[in-house]
Amino acid sequence: MNGRALVLFSGGQDSTTCLAWALQHHAHVETIGFDYGQRHAVEMQCRETVLAELRRLYPAWGPKLGPDHRLDLALLGQISDTALTQARAIELQQGGLPNTFVPGRNLLFFGFAAAVAYRRGLEVLVGGMCETDYSGYPDCRDNTLKALQVALSLGLAAPMVVQTPLMWLDKAATWRLAETLGGTALVDLIREHTHTCYLGDRGLSHAWGRGCGTCPACALRLAGYAAYRAGPDGPAAATVAATPG
Ligand code: ZN
Repeated sequence: MNGRALVLFSGGQDSTTCLAWALQHHAHVETIGFDYGQRHAVEMQCRETVLAELRRLYPAWGPKLGPDHRLDLALLGQISDTALTQARAIELQQGGLPNTFVPGRNLLFFGFAAAVAYRRGLEVLVGGMCETDYSGYPDCRDNTLKALQVALSLGLAAPMVVQTPLMWLDKAATWRLAETLGGTALVDLIREHTHTCYLGDRGLSHAWGRGCGTCPACALRLAGYAAYRAGPDGPAAATVAATPG
């Protein structure tokens, strides 16, 4: 692949791994982030650090890394945690999703990303969506994004390829992909500087990174890191990650 890509980059583990993947596979890579008043707004600060660290640690990737675009999508607040959606939000909470969850959020994100990509002359959109761990999010599913790729390409009258390198990976495999792409330095960068916790907590440091350690996002990251450390054939040794690092 030698394309020009725009990575949906939130500052979390998955999108950082995707960014490294895109830098390995594409000639030119730009990033886009959405600020919509999310509870984990600390992610937006992590983005800056991750971009700086990638440039510092990987001289081959730095020249490929173009501008970072940041869109203010505060309007999403109007369709998230409001009276209009309250009944549905309660239901979603039982599934372990935050009560600020915006239904179909990724459809909106890809739409905005495609508009920016079109303007910038970029023909590939890269996102960290994954069916394996996020079956609760229908807008992360492969069929949804394949359909979206067709809709965007038709609507823009220009090819717009949607790539999701993590689609069929579990969290342990995502850590292994990071190691393959950038060695243990990339694993360490992701552990220390990416953000996953729904509560926006970065005070507590664990072997798997920073976070509250108990919310669904932290629990998933903890389990994935434990399985990664145990190896592909080893037991999912949760005790590994339960030990503070
Ligand atoms: Zn957490």
